Amino acid sequence: MLKSKNLVFLGPPGAGKGTLSEVLLRDEKLAHISTGDILRAEIAQGTELGKSAKALMDQGKLVPDQIVADMVAARLTQKDCDEGFILDGFPRTVAQAKLLEEAAAKTGRTIDKVVLFDAPRDLLIQRLTARLTCRQCKASFNKLFAKPAKDGICDHCGGELFQRSDDSLETAQNRLKVYDEQTAPLIEFYTQNGLLATIDSSLPKDQGYAALLAVLNA
Ligand code: AMP
Repeated sequence: MLKSKNLVFLGPPGAGKGTLSEVLLRDEKLAHISTGDILRAEIAQGTELGKSAKALMDQGKLVPDQIVADMVAARLTQKDCDEGFILDGFPRTVAQAKLLEEAAAKTGRTIDKVVLFDAPRDLLIQRLTARLTCRQCKASFNKLFAKPAKDGICDHCGGELFQRSDDSLETAQNRLKVYDEQTAPLIEFYTQNGLLATIDSSLPKDQGYAALLAVLNA
């Protein structure tokens, strides 16, 4: 049983938030709330929201705060969040962090810890542009560091692996710029309220996971 179970995973794209979420979820019964996954599901379903989000996502820009905050607020009312949750990729702006506080208060939930995933920029670019994602279970692989056993096939569920359209070099660079401008101010925000813990996410997966467990049980 983790000491901290209502979690925010904060960090630039490619830092391993999704990868370590996946590992943690094998050991702990937490709800996984990835705003990127929710938006990609909207795109796949061809909804109006999906259509407007796709244009922004393909340029590496953020979807408007209120839209993502409403999605998360609705998700936090669900029963499976009672046992804890990982907010993966949300909040991404200070305005979203404030909307999260409101939504959490309404459902009687509090954030226990914000984990900052820290990794050097060149590694992030390498990881993003070589990333492969499973269409079915969303697991991540990497053409350089974490190849699947069979080309193009997910080791976990047999689903098809694909390259996300926003993992091209140009969009990856834009996403990192957007992170610096709009998301990095959250580091100060969560340091001020004492919730922030940082892990070195340039480490290999097993060592990164050990570092994550250490901060969640501190
Ligand atoms: P991710 O899967 O977390 O890398 O997110 C992919 C893309 O979805 C981002 O580049 C944004 O365009 C959009 N997105 C995901 N989460 C958010 C968020 N919290 N706020 C705004 N846009 C988001």
